[in-house]
Amino acid sequence: MYSLSEEPLITRPQIDERLKELAESIKAENFDMFLSTLTGGFMFTADLCRNIASSKLEIEFIRASSYGDRTETSGDVEISGFEGLNIQGKKVLLIDDILDTGNTMSKMKKTLLALGPREIKTCVFLDKKGRREVDFEADFVGFTIENEFVVGYGLDYANMFRSYPEIWTVRETDGK
Ligand code: 5GP
Ligand code: MG
Repeated sequence: MYSLSEEPLITRPQIDERLKELAESIKAENFDMFLSTLTGGFMFTADLCRNIASSKLEIEFIRASSYGDRTETSGDVEISGFEGLNIQGKKVLLIDDILDTGNTMSKMKKTLLALGPREIKTCVFLDKKGRREVDFEADFVGFTIENEFVVGYGLDYANMFRSYPEIWTVRETDGK
């Protein structure tokens, strides 16, 4: 069982305002490609793209999964979708929904660096700084949050709440 917070943790107006600021600094760096992480990163990536609207920007997706149906990470990160991805010589922005232990982002970045990009920078919508297990910081961060499990804006709990346009917190209530 779970319970959803009564109010959003981060509201739509807050998200829209931050998106504009982020888009401005990201646009200034002239990335060749946004490489977005499915599934959680889809809404943030779409909003960033809308705010940047550059004719030459390539958009690609990879997939990472670690959580299953729980709110505690399993530790193992599965990454797929690198087959056929061409980032050679390109300046790439790797985008994910949230930076937690740091395992997913650092593993993805390592894998991508082996594919010969000109440069890789990273961008996450949320950052739970207090949870880091590996030494990793993102180049662009939307919001820093406390150690709470959050959903909405692409993020799920057991595949629920992804379509909510703002960020909410979820608590498991059955003692797990
Ligand atoms: P890390 O490898 O940094 O521990 O975890 C990153 C991944 O765990 C994120 O891409 C996301 O899929 C998932 N994750 C971490 N914290 C949360 C959270 O609060 N809510 C949701 N829905 N997913 C999370
Ligand atoms: Mg993820």
